[in-house]
Parts: sequence; structure tokens; C-alpha cells
Amino acid sequence: MMHRFASALFALVASLPTASAAGPAKDHHVILVSIDGFPAYLWADPTLQLPNLRKLAATGASAKAMTVSNPSITWINHTTLVTGVEPRTHGVLFNGLLVRPAGGKPPVIEQWAPKDKMVFAPALYDLAHRAELTTAESDWVAVTDADSITWSFAELPKLGDPVVKEMIAAGVATEEEIGWMQMGPNRKGVAFLDAMWTRAAIHMLETHKPNLLLYHTLNTDATHHNYGPRSGPGSTALELADRYIGDLLAAADRVGLREKTTVVVATDHGFKKVSKFVQPNVALRQAGLARGLGPSISSCDAYVMGQGGMGFVYVTSPEKRAALLPQLKELFSKMEGIAQVIDGEEGPRLGMPKPGENPGMGDLVLYAADGYAIRKELNGDQVVLPAENYAGTHGYLNSDPELDGIFIASGAGIKKGVVLDRVRNLDVAPTLAKLMGLAFPKTDGRVLEEILE
Ligand SMILES: [Zn+2]
Repeated sequence: MMHRFASALFALVASLPTASAAGPAKDHHVILVSIDGFPAYLWADPTLQLPNLRKLAATGASAKAMTVSNPSITWINHTTLVTGVEPRTHGVLFNGLLVRPAGGKPPVIEQWAPKDKMVFAPALYDLAHRAELTTAESDWVAVTDADSITWSFAELPKLGDPVVKEMIAAGVATEEEIGWMQMGPNRKGVAFLDAMWTRAAIHMLETHKPNLLLYHTLNTDATHHNYGPRSGPGSTALELADRYIGDLLAAADRVGLREKTTVVVATDHGFKKVSKFVQPNVALRQAGLARGLGPSISSCDAYVMGQGGMGFVYVTSPEKRAALLPQLKELFSKMEGIAQVIDGEEGPRLGMPKPGENPGMGDLVLYAADGYAIRKELNGDQVVLPAENYAGTHGYLNSDPELDGIFIASGAGIKKGVVLDRVRNLDVAPTLAKLMGLAFPKTDGRVLEEILE
């Protein structure tokens, strides 16, 4: 029998290395695809034409549902997918970094903050890079200036980026097309952006053969926001995303990588239909707690950063917090379109931090009722108004089945024909790490042993 101390020491030492006993798998490849805003209930719809995804599932493993993280928002869940830890630990709570200015000003979101300033847990690409495996990303998020990503084609690619230069030199993209991806009046629609991100993913796969490729498509999310899930445009967008995955897999075939590649297709969050907006900042202005003209607040005692199905409430001055929180709770509890008001201190119960642990965490968390989307804007004097040109959103509690996402794993190392009832997005990173001969020092998920050969 192993001595108790020796056993504890053994457990400690076993938890330390970030590569498994067999060592990093240098002749193995992983492609992690995220189709933004693809709900599990649409994966279950047999009328959707998704031949590439159906084939991956039939020749591999899939889940009927994947639990996502709170808040059920894009950057938060992409970060969970690659770190295997809750947002309380990885730190991302917005599509960007929330910055709280002093002096009664509303917080702002700094979208392109460097990864090191916003992600506080090691990611799969960090582990891979440390083990001298190569990494690549196309439109992955919360990865700005990450030096553990070998080849990057960013959400906002620049003409000077090495991968962009390669693509232009190879005739795979033009300067004009890169120009159409920049913010401003010349930026084209998301369907065009997806086409570019797909071309970049294919280019990097063919020319660099990275051990890990992260690839994210966004058109499905944009279309579900504008037209709603279960709409004609929404279904068409999902079918186009399937086609892009087919193009990527064909590229893996062309360069002889397919047999050595594991493909995982997941999403960041599901989607719900919406018909009304809630503007809690209008109510704050009416209560004398916020001041501003037109669509924005210039100074305030409290502010709501809406994220669709949820919103974080911030008291801007710490000395006013104790007096204001009961008043704010009462105000929001009575508000049409608000289903729940949760104290920020209860964050850990939902996988989120407490306000003292992360400046982005709200003092209160608002959850929208079905059919409502919370937003920060002040459009007129109405707290609730009809949503125009807007038909769907996400952000609601992850316990709502409509927020469940998809999970498909196929290829090298994956059993054929496994269908699980449910996985968690927390399980994706530890499972991929194991396939790559790596291991996370700490994870809130688990290796999905039942899908591994
Ligand atoms: Zn998203």
C-alpha cells in the first residue's frame, strides 16, 4: 500500500505537467470549429440540410445538447471552449474587456484588449505552444496579440499581418478584400467576412499544417439576431456554415491531413426569439440616477450594461453601493421584461465571479424574460419598446434548453457512432488536450473518455 504522504505527493506531481506521459502529439492535428449561435434544437431538426456536419456526427461522436457558460455570450464561451474553466476563473464576461472609469461615468467595453489582459487561465493554444506544437486561428476571439498563436488571421485582419501578406502573395485574397473587412463604411456583411475567414483557415491548414486550428464563423449569429432562429435566413445561414466546413475538410483531404486530424464542431450559445427591447437605463434616468442626452449616458450613479438575454448592473461609486443596491433591486424587480434580479455575490453559483473578484462583474445581474432583450441604449423615454429589425438574442441563463449548443467530434482518436445526451463546453478543452498529448493543470470540465478510442 502506498504511504498516504507518498500518495498525496504522487497526486500533486501528476497534476503538474502540461504534457501527458506519451508527450505532445506532433503528428496529430486538431481543428476546433465554432459556428456562432447554433442551438441544439436546430441540430435536432432533420429538415436542415447539413450534409457535412451530419457525416461528421455519423462517423464520430455527438451530443444532443451542450451546456454553455454564463453569461451565454460569444467571447465568454469561446474562452471556456479553449480553457476548460468557468468564467469565474478565466475572467471573460463580455465581448471584450469592461473598463470602469472613476467619477460616476458609465463603464465601457474595450473590444480589442490584448488576450493577456482579459484571459486569466491557460488556453489549449498556450499548452500546445509550450509543448512546441503549432497553433493557428481564424476569427477566434479573445486572442488579440496572443504570442502562443503561431499563425493568426484575426477578426479584423491588417494588411501587414504575416498571414494576410502570404494570402495576398498566393492570390488567395486581395488588398481590396482585406479593406472590406475593416470597421467603417466600407465594411461588408458578415456572410462576406465568413467567406474570408474560411479562405484564411483553408490557407493556413494547407500551407502550415498547424497542430491546432481554431476557426469561428459568425454569419449564423448575425442572421439569428436580425431574423430570429427558425427563420428562413437563419436556416440558410446554418446551411452555408455547413458548406464552409465541407470546404475546410476537403482542404484537409487535399494535403493528406484527414487521417491524422480530429475535428470538433461546437458553438458558443443557443438562441431565443425576441420581440421587445428593455432599456433599464431609461428607468435609471427617470429615477434621477443617470444623466445624459440622446442615446448615451454621460454621468450616473448606476448603469446597466445590457447583453441581450442578461445585463450587469454597476453602481459607479463604491461609497453609494450599500444605499443604492436595495433601491435598484426593487426598481428592476418590478420592471416589465425582467424575469430575475440576482445579487452579484451569487455569481459563483452560476460559474461567474463575485464583484470583488473581477471588476467586470455586475453588482446585480438582470435576466430578461422570454421574448425580451436587455440593451444599454436610451431610445426615447420608453423602458420597453418593440424590437425593430431584431428578432433573436442570447445571454439568458444557461439552464434554459434553448441556450444549449451543439457538439460533434469526429476523426482521429474518436469512436464511431457515439451519441451522448449532454456534454458541457467545459469538457471540450480537456478532451482535446488529451488527444494532443497535453493536460491542463486545472479544469472545471472532464475528459470525455467515452468518445475516445
Ligand atoms: Zn456568439
